[in-house]
Formats: sequence, structure tokens, C-alpha cells
Amino acid sequence: MATQITEEISCPQCGAAVKTELWPGVDAAQNPDRKARVLNETMFDWSCPECGYTARFLYPFLYHDPERNYMVYLSPNGGGCEEIDLEKEFPQLHGVAKRLVTTPEALKEKILIFDAGLDDRAVELVKLALAGVLDQKHGKKAAAGYFCYADESKNEIGFSFLLEGEDKPVRRHTRMEAYQKSVEIVECAGSVPADGFVPVDGMTAQTILDHYHETRPAEEQERKG
Ligand SMILES: [Zn+2]
Repeated sequence: MATQITEEISCPQCGAAVKTELWPGVDAAQNPDRKARVLNETMFDWSCPECGYTARFLYPFLYHDPERNYMVYLSPNGGGCEEIDLEKEFPQLHGVAKRLVTTPEALKEKILIFDAGLDDRAVELVKLALAGVLDQKHGKKAAAGYFCYADESKNEIGFSFLLEGEDKPVRRHTRMEAYQKSVEIVECAGSVPADGFVPVDGMTAQTILDHYHETRPAEEQERKG
């Protein structure tokens, strides 16, 4: 797949045709500067040299880290990854984690999670629990929440949440034990389809949790019996 193409984008403000560099595919090892721009949230910034208009310009974007063995596909309209012939493009796909996201923020979050060597399903479970606590305390649902860091030496895993109706994110952290416990839950009740790009998000976490609570009483009864 081409890693870089140039397209003419017409400025929504002044109508100028602006030659724009697009990156449909980025390899983390080969394009460290692109990775840095995803992480500092400037990857999709677009500006018009004629009138100075700035906007975020999103397009389908495949991020691949061959060393850490994962891929994240950013699909701004939520569609699948049909246009990429995976077998042909990436012959060594066995065991590669493949995730589907719809926003650059979620893409960044996946990179932070996988680069930290964490299981994103377990991270989503911790996030879900913390969002629940925020809801109980403030009576406000989290409109969005993102993993920020995991620090073993401080025994902390940290997130930022955007509560409904508020502009400023709130930061929350909890102990790494919450993550370890979530890993156990995932091992009991969570599985991700091996084929294709799949979303792993709050809904995934809720499904895992429901499945875990459904199966656990049966196991406990068996033990008692
Ligand atoms: Zn313009």
C-alpha cells in the first residue's frame, strides 16, 4: 500500500485547490515522525496557505506496528477495512491484533495502550469502572474517556474523561490491581474475533462484563455441588 499520496483538496473557505499530503498507511518503525504527529494530535490538521483556514481533515488511515504486532485502522465513517487486501499487503499477519477506530483520539489511545504492552480489553474494563464511579459521584455520564498512562512504579493507571455538558476533561487514576483483575476477567470471558478489524471499546467491555457475570454463578454452583 502507498504510504503517502498527494491530493488536491479545495479549501472550504476560499475555494483554492491545495495540494495536500495524505498518509493512507503508516508503519510505526519507518515513519516515526508520523507516529509522533498521531500522538501529539496534529496528524490530521489541515490548513489553507491562501487564506489561513484551518480544519481537521480525516481519511481512512492504517497504522501498523510490526515490532509490537498490532494494527489500528482509523475509519472516520465507521466502515470496515474492505479496500485493503490484508493477505496481500501483509503476508505475516498471523497473531496480529487488529483494531477498528473511528476517531484520531481513539487511534492515539490504542497506540498508547499497545505500546505500554497492555491488553486493550482489560483497559476498557478499568475505564468502564472509573466512568461508573464518576457517574455516581457527579451524576454525569462520561461522553468520552481515554487511557493516558500506566505506571508500575507508582502503581497507577490513568485516564482522562470528558463528562457530558463539560468542556474540561477530568483526570482519574486507580491502582494497577484494577487492571490485573480486569485481565483475569478478560481471560475468563473476553475474546476478540481473529479475523478482520474489530472495535474494542466501552461496548466491548460491557459485553465482557455481562458474559463474566452470566458464567460465574454457574461455576460457583458447580464448586459448591
Ligand atoms: Zn483557503
